[in-house]
Amino acid sequence: MISVRSSNAFVEEVIAAIQNVVGAGQIALHEPSFDGNEWIYLKDCLDSNFVSSIGKYVDEFEQALVTFTGAKYAISVVNGTAALQIALKLAGVERGDEVLIPALTFVATANAVSYLGAIPHFVDSEMSTLGINVVKLREYLEANTQLKSGICFNRKTNRPIRALVPVHTFGHPASMDEILMIGQDFNLMIVEDAAESLGSQYKGKLTGTFGKLSALSFNGNKTITTGGGGAILTDSEFLAKRARHITTTAKLPHKWEFDHDEIGFNFRMPNINAALGCAQIEKISEKIVNKRRLFQKYKEVFAPILGITLFEEPPNCYSNYWLQTMILEDETEQYRNSILEQTNLRGISTRPVWKLICNLAPYKNAPAMNLDVARKLSRRIINIPSSPSLLVGNI
Ligand SMILES: *Cc1c(COP(=O)(O)O)cnc(C)c1O
Repeated sequence: MISVRSSNAFVEEVIAAIQNVVGAGQIALHEPSFDGNEWIYLKDCLDSNFVSSIGKYVDEFEQALVTFTGAKYAISVVNGTAALQIALKLAGVERGDEVLIPALTFVATANAVSYLGAIPHFVDSEMSTLGINVVKLREYLEANTQLKSGICFNRKTNRPIRALVPVHTFGHPASMDEILMIGQDFNLMIVEDAAESLGSQYKGKLTGTFGKLSALSFNGNKTITTGGGGAILTDSEFLAKRARHITTTAKLPHKWEFDHDEIGFNFRMPNINAALGCAQIEKISEKIVNKRRLFQKYKEVFAPILGITLFEEPPNCYSNYWLQTMILEDETEQYRNSILEQTNLRGISTRPVWKLICNLAPYKNAPAMNLDVARKLSRRIINIPSSPSLLVGNI
């Protein structure tokens, strides 16, 4: 039984399982691979002098995103946080509004809300998807909000709650049917934080195509990278035009005049980053297939270990398995820190999940619902090496 196993034996068992899959030696948590046309496209940028905000790769990358995701429009920007900020702004979020986001997410989700002068309002997670707890959220909104002329108001703070941001945690799709229904019933704009889930599907439809607007990230640790970068997805021609306009300093088209009709942002993705993205997206399906095979391998070796579950994609979903996720149980959660310590000591990069955002200094006073599930998950999750290249040549 687990209770009589020593901490040491348990930790050794976990390390042996991981090494069985990834081999011994230094293993990153998630590293990119450049085994396609990256070198050719980057050289082309340098040879042609088009390295900055003008050049063909930006348009080509946006077209590739449209083709791959099925969204009608894609607007590429400097990073995922900027994509989320602009998506929220175009969804109508204003200073003094509240925006519902999970407490268990990367801090960027909350920061994007704050940049607009709005206030994040923290929502609990669910065990089955690691995303927004749809049962608790509906109950909470019924008890704590009121619709006044079509606007959802927080009864306690009297502030409008304008939007709901589902995050597809570690690539696993959130419960989108229920989230869209909550959006309808409480008149909340749905803006997806799909930063981690490019290529993941919910009931056959790609994440990032459910919200009125969505945000993607192409940071170095994501499934595909542009160095740094992000994109806004939308089906609305009007919002796509607005997004393109305000991310390029709101400049009015003219051969030489500098005329700007509002305070815009310099958020456009440079050509050199988009060139990297064009090469990366050519290989995305291959990368995802490799990440899914990696999951199967981990699943095999973890199956006999009591006290650990490997998180598996929710039913009716196809996940990109961005980060592989172990979840400790009642009897093993006490070993979290030893596992983190011992794996990292031996060169296996592992990480705990983020601290709940409501526990971070800048967000201590933000409104929150009961967060029992998120708190439990935050004590139990460890991410293990997840690079798409890990199994190449290893099987
Ligand atoms: C990576 C990430 C972001 C931000 O993307 P950047 O490109 O790093 O700005 C936002 N939300 C989530 C959930 C992320 O994982």
